[in-house]
Amino acid sequence: MTKSIPELYGSLVFNDKVMRDKLPKDIYKALRKTIENNTHLELDVANSVAVAMKEWAVENGATHFTHWFQPMTGFTAEKHDSFITPIGDGQIIMDFSGKELVKGEPDASSFPSGGLRATFEARGYTAWDPTSPAFIKDRTLYIPTAFCSYSGEALDKKTPLLRSMETLSKEATRILHLLGQTDVTSVSTTVGPEQEYFLVDKALYAQRKDLIFTGRTLLGAKPPKGQEMEDHYFGTLKPRVSAYMHDLDEELWKLGIPAKTKHNEVAPAQHELAPIFDTANVAVDHNQLTMEIMKKVADKHGLVCLLHEKPFEGINGSGKHNNWSMTTNTGTNLLEPGRTPAENIQFLVFLMAVIKAVDEYADLMRLSVASAGNDHRLGANEAPPAIVSIFLGEELTAVLDSIENDTFFGKQQKVQMETGATVLPHFFKDNTDRNRTSPFAFTGNKFEFRMLGSSVSVSGPNIVLNTAVAEALRQFYEELKDTPQDKMEEAVHALVKRAILKHKKVVFNGNGYTDEWVEEAQKRGLYNLKSTPEALTCFTEKKNVDLFTSHHIFTEGEIYSRHEILLENYCKTIHIEAKTLVEMVRRQFLPALLDYQDALTCSIQGKKAVADLPCTAESKLLTKLSGYYDSLSDLTETLAEEILTAEGIDDMEKGSFFYHDSILPKMEEIRAIADAAEELLPDDILPYPSYEQLLFSI
Ligand code: ADP
Ligand code: MG
Repeated sequence: MTKSIPELYGSLVFNDKVMRDKLPKDIYKALRKTIENNTHLELDVANSVAVAMKEWAVENGATHFTHWFQPMTGFTAEKHDSFITPIGDGQIIMDFSGKELVKGEPDASSFPSGGLRATFEARGYTAWDPTSPAFIKDRTLYIPTAFCSYSGEALDKKTPLLRSMETLSKEATRILHLLGQTDVTSVSTTVGPEQEYFLVDKALYAQRKDLIFTGRTLLGAKPPKGQEMEDHYFGTLKPRVSAYMHDLDEELWKLGIPAKTKHNEVAPAQHELAPIFDTANVAVDHNQLTMEIMKKVADKHGLVCLLHEKPFEGINGSGKHNNWSMTTNTGTNLLEPGRTPAENIQFLVFLMAVIKAVDEYADLMRLSVASAGNDHRLGANEAPPAIVSIFLGEELTAVLDSIENDTFFGKQQKVQMETGATVLPHFFKDNTDRNRTSPFAFTGNKFEFRMLGSSVSVSGPNIVLNTAVAEALRQFYEELKDTPQDKMEEAVHALVKRAILKHKKVVFNGNGYTDEWVEEAQKRGLYNLKSTPEALTCFTEKKNVDLFTSHHIFTEGEIYSRHEILLENYCKTIHIEAKTLVEMVRRQFLPALLDYQDALTCSIQGKKAVADLPCTAESKLLTKLSGYYDSLSDLTETLAEEILTAEGIDDMEKGSFFYHDSILPKMEEIRAIADAAEELLPDDILPYPSYEQLLFSI
């Protein structure tokens, strides 16, 4: 019997309904209190929860449990233990205790710590995060946990996110109380990440070393057709893709992940999936799971899901849109302008806090999306530029203008869309038009941060956003706290006016892809951190260290360790890419090129010997190929030497600039020549699948 979708949904999740059914009433209440108010959980409650969890898991076929955490690799980690416990005479029972639920002690020595954890202290701790529900996958009970060192330093991506959510909640609640919303006791950040990806055939993938080792193609001549016809975006789903998406949805739904929207993207073989938003913490966990399940389901369909930011040159890469807002425990979206945004002082305060936050910490926003993969997208006219700016849309910009200039803001009437066809339903024009080139856009009742790469954990960007907005709200609170209630509206108005004057430089409603904007942004004094090594230098700047330490998101030690890990990750990524390229050119491309030259030489010699033909075309081609062969060999040997030089650089920061300034350009030079040569090669001589096959065969 197949289950209906509502029955299927969340069937592998230890969710609220299961908890209510399985737990004694008082235990359920105690657990809910912990989840909602972040209070400490007593061991007897944990024990009781553990028993219920195990019972439910075993009923649903689980044999093992694992603490599931998010180390600084950007992936998730797990170590499975079975529930079996011997009870003498060769028998076992299935057992699981509160202690096992609450705390784990994985050996942490092989996870990146950026020098935080000395090797002699290999122990790490995982601690249950009851705010993200446990679930069953592959017959194992997964328990979401935070991961920290023996001395309590965060070694993961969850701990600082939870800290930043608490900070934002505290600051937002304080200011809401000032504004008269005294019934609010907490504010949660909500996140909806839209995920882009590519699908390629598994058998073809298996023949490309670059895809296997680096996740992107390092070589490949462009096929005659790319994305110029704009026929893929929202196009009809091919049967194989559609079958994949169906399966994917079902797997996600079982895990309580509210996958909602799916469609083809701009580039051939590119697609997107968007879930319904959730609290930031759960959304981050779900996005990690989504990326994993995407790959797993693809495998079942003879496909490979590519999550790299730039798998193919010449067509769009993949990103992730981080939709973000704040909601009170009473259910109000704080970025909802309402019908009269100009008069909605609560909205204006929170809107202004976000603008201030993004302006003051644009460098950290940029840093939070920096990676070797994403460097191929940002500023490449397919994704937002590397300059962080905010799109507000006409109406909000007019509202802020009127406050700045003390002019009256007339209530705007919603404009009815004129479609010209009377049979069509009438609807109103959206107040926020879509501006695809903006890195940070207001879209109705939330902001959409569009600079994220497709493979990044959404944790980092949300840590920065939450913390920077919390800091802005803290400062606003300090400015407003002594204002008597009857003067509050006036005081808020004055505060917003001051803030606009100071921060309007970050607002830009125009086209972010133009050169004029780059110039204009420079005049306005905005950051333009073009590459990851550049962006990384800002992490340890005083204003940023102050921000994170004052809100207890990171200690100074945690900042330096994370900085180190990011640098190391960047260097290693390009190191592997460069080595893969050398290997592919030396062992695959050059030999193929030589084969074809041999064939041409034979043909020329044969024709000359038999009929004394001139062979002009063949000779020309041979000369050309031979030229490519020489320069490719030379450049590849130079690259191999530079890789050795890079390996000898001890200082990570210097190393990152060397990879960026010396290794990457050399790789591009090699690629340009190889791609030009590939265009002259017969299809069957290329020793791996071409772009044409990879992009158009599904
Ligand atoms: P698109 O940007 O593709 O038009 P939508 O505007 O419908 O799509 O929503 C995109 C994403 O934003 C979805 O994941 C949606 O759940 C999420 N979203 C909507 N409201 C909020 C909110 N208040 N906070 C966070 N995310 C939200
Ligand atoms: Mg979107």
